[in-house]
Amino acid sequence: MTNNERDAIVIGGGIAGTAAAIALRIAGRTPVIYEAHGPGDAERGVFVTLAVNGVNAMRALGADPAVVLARGFATPRLALHGASGRLLAEMPLGGPLPDGTVTTTIRRADLYAALRSEAERQGVEIVYGHRLTSARSGPHGVTAEFEGDRAVTGELLVGADGLNSRTRTSLDPSTPAPHFLGLLDTGGFTDGPVDAALLPPPGVMRMAFGRRAFFGWAAAPDGRVWWFANPPRRRPVERGEFTADTWRAHLLELAEGEPAAGLIRATAEILGPWSTRDLPRVPVWHGDRTVLVGDAAHAVAPSSGQGVSMALEDAVVLGHSLREHRELPAALSAYETTRRPRVEKVVAHGRRTSSTKVLGPVGAALRDAMMPLGMRTMHRRGDPQAWIFEHRVPMLARAPR
Ligand SMILES: Cc1cc2nc3c(=O)[nH]c(=O)nc-3n(C[C@H](O)[C@H](O)[C@H](O)COP(=O)(O)OP(=O)(O)OC[C@H]3O[C@@H](n4cnc5c(N)ncnc54)[C@H](O)[C@@H]3O)c2cc1C
Repeated sequence: MTNNERDAIVIGGGIAGTAAAIALRIAGRTPVIYEAHGPGDAERGVFVTLAVNGVNAMRALGADPAVVLARGFATPRLALHGASGRLLAEMPLGGPLPDGTVTTTIRRADLYAALRSEAERQGVEIVYGHRLTSARSGPHGVTAEFEGDRAVTGELLVGADGLNSRTRTSLDPSTPAPHFLGLLDTGGFTDGPVDAALLPPPGVMRMAFGRRAFFGWAAAPDGRVWWFANPPRRRPVERGEFTADTWRAHLLELAEGEPAAGLIRATAEILGPWSTRDLPRVPVWHGDRTVLVGDAAHAVAPSSGQGVSMALEDAVVLGHSLREHRELPAALSAYETTRRPRVEKVVAHGRRTSSTKVLGPVGAALRDAMMPLGMRTMHRRGDPQAWIFEHRVPMLARAPR
């Protein structure tokens, strides 16, 4: 086995890994990211909406949202419609930052590529094609072992290897498995013309509780519509269960007679389906030299639109903790103490949001009848989601090198 010595090892070059590596670099360390896939491998998923609290965290890492999110577009408002098409609620997705930046929607692959470029711009090395098999701590450091008989040893290891994290199971073999939320996720980008009546105004993400599935879409500045669907489902989808044609046919059946059918027909390639999961409480977040960030520590239901933001906020708080505490165990404990209450509250909120999408016909009718009044009452007391969107992690000051 070949082994190298490193200062800080980051496992995973997704959102949390690139952000954590930038934070470590700002905190005065020399991190190296080890990513399982190759640099050009397509990322799973269609697009993500990065909420304004996450955009603030990106800025706190010294990254300019105008550059990192250049290929995205502003979506600061959400319009929610019922099964009959009636508008149930319209709400902000957080207010603008002082520089005017707002919640932004961007293709997943573009966000990964931009964050990796930003990490490299800030001096982070990324090594591709390294899949972690296990991480173990010893008196002289923590060793990451990879497929292909390769290993690296470092003083600190950050596990940013996502929902099915190997770092997490290495830290605690009895750690709970992710929970299936009873929804699939799929979507695409239209290629053909779309009925103008379907297009939400610029800046609005339109969502609809269809009769058989939940749909969401927004009009990109180039005229294409970016859409997703969440069909309810009793069990996770299996690999090879659908072909492109059978999946399209199934989706069209779910959307029959509803506006989303027009979007499906105008899309040449439909991406997915994927099973959606969350991870509410991971008992062990860190050891003496190993720590989890992002989905590895706390996956939020995709319906919350907060997974990316939570990963970015984690990174900033980890950077602060490492700057404030000289001893690693104290720094890692401080990070967990700050982050755990907030992320667990966001995960619980995400699960509640997901559950409104899997109601039967009676529950759906009640939801559509009650929601407008409930929303108006809640909003009279202020934005009920302000605690999510208005959270601001402080800027991370650069440590002298
Ligand atoms: C369908 C769907 C829609 C979503 N929509 C939104 C949204 O609109 N807004 C939002 O904020 N969030 C959304 N999320 C959540 C968001 O995508 C995640 O919370 C976010 O990607 C977490 O980042 P991460 O870096 O922790 O994990 P990931 O993005 O999954 O990155 C993990 C990285 O680790 C690598 N890796 C995995 N295992 C290993 C290993 N053993 N060794 C080395 N590398 C490894 C992977 O290749 C990957 O690059 C959505 C999630 C899903 C599934």
